[in-house]
Amino acid sequence: MKNKVSNILKHGKLGLEEIVTLLRSDGAERTELFSESARIRRKYVGNRVYFRGLIEFSNICDKNCYYCGIRRDNKEVERYSLSDKEILDAALYAFENKYGSVVLQSGELSNSRFASRITRLLKEIKKLSGGKLGITLSVGEQTEEVYREWFEAGAHRYLLRIEASNPGLYAKLHPDDNLHSYQRRLECLYLLQKIGYQTGTGVMIGLPFQTYEDLAGDLLFMKNLDIDMVGMGPYIEHANTPMIDYKSELLPIKARFELSLNMIAVLRILMKDINIAASTALQAIDPIGREKAVKIGANVIMPNITPGIYRDNYNLYENKPLSTDEDDDSKECLEARLKMVDVEPGFGEWGDSKHYFERRKPRGSVRKTLRS
Ligand code: SAH
Ligand code: SF4
Repeated sequence: MKNKVSNILKHGKLGLEEIVTLLRSDGAERTELFSESARIRRKYVGNRVYFRGLIEFSNICDKNCYYCGIRRDNKEVERYSLSDKEILDAALYAFENKYGSVVLQSGELSNSRFASRITRLLKEIKKLSGGKLGITLSVGEQTEEVYREWFEAGAHRYLLRIEASNPGLYAKLHPDDNLHSYQRRLECLYLLQKIGYQTGTGVMIGLPFQTYEDLAGDLLFMKNLDIDMVGMGPYIEHANTPMIDYKSELLPIKARFELSLNMIAVLRILMKDINIAASTALQAIDPIGREKAVKIGANVIMPNITPGIYRDNYNLYENKPLSTDEDDDSKECLEARLKMVDVEPGFGEWGDSKHYFERRKPRGSVRKTLRS
């Protein structure tokens, strides 16, 4: 008799219950799940992996998320903010090394100086690359006006993880105030889509209080929102955060890693033509964690190009790869490791989300159905 996973994959209906079964799969069933997600990846988004040079340009943050190592109330972190020149040099490095795109990421600030600084930097990055470098922003919740200004200045993708799509779980992970509102975060995702960004979201996997149903709900949330890109990865505890109190309730780190791979595989089956990033947190657990994710469905890698002296202070979680691991993200190393998992590097390409273009086709035109 065929196992449950085979049946689900064969019949193609992916509701909450079926997704939970897939997320729990192990052993031979898991191998089957992975071979299906790898097949779908190849068929719908091809054999390439695209790069986004990650510039963590500041760890100064106004927010106080309970899980994050650079939250406002962690006084142990040395705060930094790269100069414009350092940011532009990193962008130029990405351009010259054919990474194709950069991600500008930081703690969340929402003042007008911050907004106009980003606008200026976006224009400069476009200029130094002759318009050829793609730019993703990941700097949190902002007003519609600011999102629009940045879009017009050249940012075309935005990453804003919902962190946990179940509002009840979200509330356990954040302080209960206006700065940390689930509704506001959701509205920001709608705004980003409305303005025209390729819109990315994601969640942390293996959080305290999180259930398999929550995770299945996260995947359905992404599907319902018709999201273009996803970056999701394991939650990794940080000693100087309130959530460390729940350390004993966590899944072992290896299990969080395995579950993250299952999430990526199921998402690839559920949303065939989106971009899925292999998160840095996977690499923090397993040196070839990102390549393992690429093998089973991810198609984006974000090599860290933050200058070494700062990188060690962008400690969202413990064991984040250090500046001394820098060579791991060199072009040659990436190329060699990707070869191991039989995919090609898409050097110099933007690697935009195919889903974005499908989603935006004018009404009335034939929207290709994604039958595998
Ligand atoms: N401040 C912005 C972007 C930087 S934080 C924002 O919050 O949107 C980027 C991501 O780091 C967050 O979305 C969160 O999912 C992740 N992160 C923070 N703390 C983490 C932890 N302890 N383990 C794993 N990921 C974490
Ligand atoms: Fe700030 Fe982002 Fe960390 Fe929350 S997750 S504390 S917004 S850097």
